Amino acid sequence: MEGTAVVTGASSGIGEAVARLLLDAGCHVITLQRRPPRIRHERLSFHPLELTDVAATRQLAEEIAAQRAVRYLVNNAGANRPGSLEQATAEDLDHVMALNVRAAMILIKAFAPGMRSAKFGRIVNMSSRAAMGKTQRVVYSAAKAGLIGITRTLCLELAADGITVNAVAPGPVATELFDHGHPPGSDKRQRVIDSIPVGRVGTPDDVARAVLFLLAPESGYITGQTIFVCGGTSVSGSGGA
Ligand code: NDP
Repeated sequence: MEGTAVVTGASSGIGEAVARLLLDAGCHVITLQRRPPRIRHERLSFHPLELTDVAATRQLAEEIAAQRAVRYLVNNAGANRPGSLEQATAEDLDHVMALNVRAAMILIKAFAPGMRSAKFGRIVNMSSRAAMGKTQRVVYSAAKAGLIGITRTLCLELAADGITVNAVAPGPVATELFDHGHPPGSDKRQRVIDSIPVGRVGTPDDVARAVLFLLAPESGYITGQTIFVCGGTSVSGSGGA
């Protein structure tokens, strides 16, 4: 794959795996998040960014769009504020929507014009199985369902210019995000594993492979879709993150 890819949230977990596979595929990769990436590569660069900061996100995205031919965008950065309806606050909702949804829209707005000019672009938004509904996820599921809505709408607006927009919706994946809520060896983690049809938690590479498939130039007939990489949890309706 040729060209520049922007990946948000590549300092750990799924985003790190996506960045690594994009480097393996030959891309230049720009990562945006607060901490520097753990991996080092001559074609990997990093701009520190708090993605909930509208002005900073817009300014940096426009600077990158002016300097680099960004052809691939992976809106991966995300965070969860778990809690029941009684526990969830409007501030939780604002934060999670800002990070997961608003930042994704700002980045798409910045990079879509260059993709339109090139008549080629690939955008993948990181949703979650929780978009289907999951207890204790009122805020998170709203944001992840929002990303599916953005994906479906922008697929229609951008398709004529060779740009595809898809979502990947992971189930439980062993990353910092998941380990924080489900410590290794805990009963809570085992209960989740027991509820996953394939009988294990996913790996970042499980998800990154689906992202790379959607980013491939050959995948131009797939747009507006959500691929669940969830060990079957979206089918059984049990477990999930
Ligand atoms: P991690 O916590 O490992 O990674 C999250 C990434 O997002 C980090 O690189 C982090 O970077 C970045 N990030 C978080 N907050 C901000 C912020 N305010 N500004 C900029 N960057 C930020 O999580 P995962 O790899 O598990 O999650 C990746 C995506 O996958 C998320 O969208 C998540 O919702 C989704 N997902 C994960 C599942 C799982 O089970 N793990 C299941 C379903 C969906 P830094 O801290 O350096 O800023």
